[in-house]
Amino acid sequence: MFESLSEKLESAFKQIKGEGRITELNIAATVKEIRRALVDADVNYKIAKEFTDTVKDKAMGEKVLTAVSPGQLMVKIVKDELVTLMGGEEAVFNAKGNPAVILIAGLQGSGKTTFSGKLANFLKNKKGLSPLLVAADIYRPAAIDQLKVLGGQIGVDVFSEPENKDAVDIARKAVAQARSLNKNVVIIDTAGRLAIDEAMMNEVANVKAAVNPQEILFVVDSMTGQDAVNTARAFNERLDFSGVVLTKLDGDTRGGAALSIKYVVKKPIKFVSSGEKLDTLDVFYPERMAQRILGMGDITTLVERAQAQFDEAEAKKLEKKIRKNQFDFSDFKQQLEQIKKMGNIKDLLAMIPGVGKAIKDIDISDDAFKGIEAMINSMTPFERANPDVIDGSRRKRIASGSGKDLNEVNAFMKQFEQMKDMMKMMNKMPMGGKMPGMGG
Ligand code: GDP
Repeated sequence: MFESLSEKLESAFKQIKGEGRITELNIAATVKEIRRALVDADVNYKIAKEFTDTVKDKAMGEKVLTAVSPGQLMVKIVKDELVTLMGGEEAVFNAKGNPAVILIAGLQGSGKTTFSGKLANFLKNKKGLSPLLVAADIYRPAAIDQLKVLGGQIGVDVFSEPENKDAVDIARKAVAQARSLNKNVVIIDTAGRLAIDEAMMNEVANVKAAVNPQEILFVVDSMTGQDAVNTARAFNERLDFSGVVLTKLDGDTRGGAALSIKYVVKKPIKFVSSGEKLDTLDVFYPERMAQRILGMGDITTLVERAQAQFDEAEAKKLEKKIRKNQFDFSDFKQQLEQIKKMGNIKDLLAMIPGVGKAIKDIDISDDAFKGIEAMINSMTPFERANPDVIDGSRRKRIASGSGKDLNEVNAFMKQFEQMKDMMKMMNKMPMGGKMPGMGG
């Protein structure tokens, strides 16, 4: 995410890093590069210019500060300005009502339906609400089916009337049904078109007037850069939406949309979405995004993702097994499954400061664990629970069962042994050698 922007900003900071102090001259060179980096990331020129003018003024104003180096000072000023540009504080999302109505709008293909599923899952699991999903796309029967499939996966009811060609009527009925079913939040997935279209705008505006939503979220594909910003402007003029959802941040996004939308439409980004897994919806925090753009990682989000998968009782059980040196292949497999649930692996690794840049050209797919899982799956339950019994002939069988060669199985067994040795060592450490992320 935003790799090219991060790289160019870093190179801009290099201009000033070795300098003893900030001068008119070196600041001008740095600021020029920052502006070019922003424009290359598809940030509108006017925004980029205003941004760098502010950065320059601030840097010049602070030149008397000698405690920090000019390089550090620039990074801090740019970070603060990025945060401001993206909205400053975290925006409020209002899901209070009887029921609260959340209207989802955007172009076709922007990720509305996927987002609706993610939001329902988020409100159900993280906020303890009881959502009803509503399929109000009256043109594409496939969209109704898609929402039903998503609803099934997350255990959320979906309201639809495939024969009804009146989106306003569907929305009204859905809200009434939510009331009678004691659902406290209704998420209405509306129809999109490939481009801005008067009929579509009218329809969404009519739905809005009929159900009086607490939130109107405009969903936009971040890969579309400046187009995303223009579409946002058009939707906002018509709908006066309450927030933006940026999708597909897992792709090769340059950053223009994330950086310009708030400035242009004066509405905050409320959620970001990366990937198609339904449990990886992130609340948008300008501060964390700015840190990621500047290559500082995003440990806070990483920890939150881990906590979301974290089960206190399971962790205690695991810790006990580790203490007794009984950690086995079943535990290992379970750990892998938890990590996978945290989201796209490359995305996770990139949240660790400094790692994003190092792995940007390496292809790390979510299949990275497949080989390991295949090997564990080829073990018998007895072998999984008793790793020590896995001798040469068992290894051969595991290799052929998992489609791996014997060397790979041997290497994996060795790694597992090393891991156990490390656990043993940690057990002997003072403080009980607490494992990071395993609580206790
Ligand atoms: P809609 O037409 O606006 O309802 O869009 P959909 O939810 O059907 O999404 C369009 C396509 O984008 C589908 O193939 C989705 O799987 C995909 N998609 C949606 N959100 C994301 C995302 O955050 N990342 C990626 N990589 N793909 C996404």
